[in-house]
Amino acid sequence: MNFKLIKIISIILLVLVIASCNPQQKQEPKVKNIILMIGDGMGLAQVHAAYLASNNTLTMTGLPHIGLQQTISADDFATCSAAASTAIASGIKTNDGYLGVDPNGNPVKTILDYAEENGLATGLVATSFITHATPAGFIANQISRNMYEEIALDFLTTDIDVFIGGGLNHFTKRLDGRNLADELAQKGYQVAVSMEEVMKIKSGKLAGLVDSLHLPKYSEGRGNMLSDATSAAISILQQNPRGFFLMVEGSQIDWGGHDMDADYIIKETIDFDRAVARALEFVKKDGNTLLIVTSDHETGGMALIDFDQATGERDFRFTYDNHTGLMVPSFSYGPGAEKFTGVYDNTDIFTKMMALFGFSAN
Ligand code: MG
Ligand code: ZN
Repeated sequence: MNFKLIKIISIILLVLVIASCNPQQKQEPKVKNIILMIGDGMGLAQVHAAYLASNNTLTMTGLPHIGLQQTISADDFATCSAAASTAIASGIKTNDGYLGVDPNGNPVKTILDYAEENGLATGLVATSFITHATPAGFIANQISRNMYEEIALDFLTTDIDVFIGGGLNHFTKRLDGRNLADELAQKGYQVAVSMEEVMKIKSGKLAGLVDSLHLPKYSEGRGNMLSDATSAAISILQQNPRGFFLMVEGSQIDWGGHDMDADYIIKETIDFDRAVARALEFVKKDGNTLLIVTSDHETGGMALIDFDQATGERDFRFTYDNHTGLMVPSFSYGPGAEKFTGVYDNTDIFTKMMALFGFSAN
């Protein structure tokens, strides 16, 4: 063996020894799975109203690590859900209406893309179209959130393992005549068009398109769809030994805000919280999963003037029938949850998740 080679090998060994002994070189604590839950339009007033209406029994408010998140988009103080979802998913601020693209229209990579690249399982769950802004921000690259049929096509160019929501029509009743449900089946997905069918699928790839358009309101018969879809997604995704990333959206809290309808907001927030409780059951058992519960923006400029839990007397006011720029809360549990405290930006959610998964951006 020549001396040069021995010298090189000894230097490599020395570097390895130093690296393993030096605490400065220590990696971030690794997290195996992340469950990110987004209450669309869920500001502090929405959480507080649901907290009081549930007799202080919400699960999310019991999570130990609480933070505040700034939601401003690239071109709007009061962001839309597409720009907010893109910021959370990719760490890039973009313009309102843009999905998975930067303000110049260039595609950006999301946490879901990185999870797939690193061999993790991935999933999306929503009570709206699965092609709607919040879930779509994690998977689509489109200049407009309204391009539902193009967004549906984006699902076929990824390796997402599980998605459950509405919007079947964007896959099957298309201007281009394609039947994407058939194409998903050819790609190996089990396509389920009802929650009954979803619940029968225990492993493999699942495309749950359980309503032709949006799911109904909780008050109009949606039942336990969100909780059941969350459980179904977790039980499939957790079979991947490398881990998983799952985003679950309570989509309709926002619509209650647009309607300035406190009852709609409260029922949707409590339903979302039931899904949080389902996720927390798994998270507590697993021990390697980070649970983050947050929002994309506040909707309605909601204020609580009075709430008498004894008499049921309530006085809620709304200042605006659209989104506001108010900070939104986050509630977290599990390894790395302490990173989601203090005041931070929506783009930091991406950065923090990347670091906790141990992924490097490329
Ligand atoms: Mg949404
Ligand atoms: Zn909205």
